[in-house]
Parts: sequence; structure tokens; C-alpha cells
Amino acid sequence: MTGRLSGDTAVVTGSSQGIGKGIAERFAAEGANVVVNSRSAERAEEVAESIEADGGTAIGVAADVTDEDAMAALVETTVEEFGSLDVFVNNAGVTTLGPAEEFDVDEWREVVNVDLVGTFVGCKVAGNQMIEQGDGGAILNMSSLMGGRGLQLRSPYCASKAGVNNLTQTLAVEWAEHDVHVNALAPGFIWTEITEQTQGSAGYTNDDIRDRTPLGRFGSVEEMAECALFLVGRNNFVTGEVLYADGGWQAYGWGAGDQ
Ligand code: NAD
Repeated sequence: MTGRLSGDTAVVTGSSQGIGKGIAERFAAEGANVVVNSRSAERAEEVAESIEADGGTAIGVAADVTDEDAMAALVETTVEEFGSLDVFVNNAGVTTLGPAEEFDVDEWREVVNVDLVGTFVGCKVAGNQMIEQGDGGAILNMSSLMGGRGLQLRSPYCASKAGVNNLTQTLAVEWAEHDVHVNALAPGFIWTEITEQTQGSAGYTNDDIRDRTPLGRFGSVEEMAECALFLVGRNNFVTGEVLYADGGWQAYGWGAGDQ
């Protein structure tokens, strides 16, 4: 396929479902060779096969983003298969809810381990490969509107995503001399397979979310893929940026339900 990523090879972590899957599919439609990652080989291969059935080029590779050796092996497989690594999206993430005064510290640590440490591991293995290639590259880290704002019951997630924002800036500065661009995408509330299931669990309903969002709706996976495509472009002079794609949520100064 020809498109804006023709000739590029892109890894998207945690891309067997949700936003990551949407990004993997869009990048493939834009001509990239795509590496679909999941902890399960079966799930990764399933998505890769469906991309291939649609005319794209993809393989599935299992790895846990918190495991540096497994992630280094994923990069090795990518380069063996496609010859280079040009784009790397740290999309995998988890969240868990709880009041801070009761939060189990091991559970808290696990969210930070996947969302922040896992993102660093991905940046490290991708950055090493891109620096060695000597031809630049693009890394995109998945943040959240909650990386810039506090929200009740989400202390490990908010703290991790805030860490992702600063990590993005730091690595953008550190790797600018190698022309490795590092940016972050901070989605607002996006409608995915699990939105319905988790309805109300954080103390607000899906209607509350629509009311609090100036655009009056959830964002879509396709819209996040569009933003991701812009952010992995290397002809836009953008690095170290956190793009909020949240329907105006951060911009809005009024409280939930007060519209
Ligand atoms: P999701 O749960 O559907 O997808 C996350 C994927 O990451 C899953 O496939 C999961 O299996 C995978 N994953 C989790 N731990 C992993 C690990 N250790 N190693 C490898 N893969 C692992 O969630 P989503 O809504 O598609 O979210 C994708 C990203 O976008 C996450 O980083 C999330 O924090 C962020 N985000 C989502 C929203 C939203 O409203 N959906 C909003 C803001 C930010």
C-alpha cells in the first residue's frame, strides 16, 4: 500500500484491541509495515492477519512491555523481518481505581510499572535501534488527559501519565541530536470496546462525560489514529509535544454537570 508511511516500519504496543489496534490498522493503511504487539501471540497474530487480509503488511509479536529483554527481542524480530524500525508507539496501558487512602501499594506500583516504566522500556529499545540506524525516527507515547489533571480514584494512572509527559519532553531533548522525535498523544474519553463495560465504575456515567466535554461526545479510535499519524510524521518540526485530543475537556474551566 502507498501512503504517508510508505516504506516505514512501525511497532504499536498493546495493539490487539482498542486505540492501539486502530493505530496499527491506520498505519498499515498508510503503507507502513506494522508490528502488532500483545502479551498473547495468538491475539497479536489475529490482528496482524486481519491487517494482511485488508491488503496491509503486518506481523504479530508477543511481548510484555515491562520486560526489557522481551522488548529488545521484539525490536530484533522487527528489524530481521522488515530491515529497519522507524516508528514506535508506546500504547499499552492499564488502569485501576481506588481511594488513595486505601490503595494497595503493590497494585499502585503495577500501574506505574506498565504505564510509565513500560513506556520507558519501549523508548529505550526503540531509541537504541533508531540511534544505531542513524536515520532518525519517531516515538509516540500514549498519555491521557489525566496526565495533566487530577481525577478522583485514579492516583497511579494520573501520576504515571504525568510522568509519561515529562519523559516525552526529556527524551525529545536528549535524542534531538539523532533526529529521533518523541511526542505524546493525550486522549480524552475515547469510545472503545470496554467503555460500555466500565460505565459508572469511576463515579461518573457516560452521560456525565458527554456533558463535561465541550464537543459533547466521546472521541473515536479513528480520531486518535489520525492524531497519531500526524505525530509520527517527521516533516513537522514537532518534538517533545503533548497533544491533547480531548474534545475541549482540558480547556473547559467549569465543573462536571454545571453546563
Ligand atoms: P485497552 O485496555 O483497550 O488497550 C490496552 C492494551 O494494552 C490491551 O490490549 C492490553 O492487553 C495491553 N497491555 C496491557 N498491559 C500490557 C503489557 N504489560 N504488555 C503488553 N501489552 C499490555 O485500552 P485503550 O483504551 O485502547 O488504551 C490504549 C492507551 O490509550 C492506553 O495507554 C490508555 O491509557 C490510553 N488512553 C485511553 C483512553 C480511553 O478513553 N480509552 C483515554 C486516555 C488514554
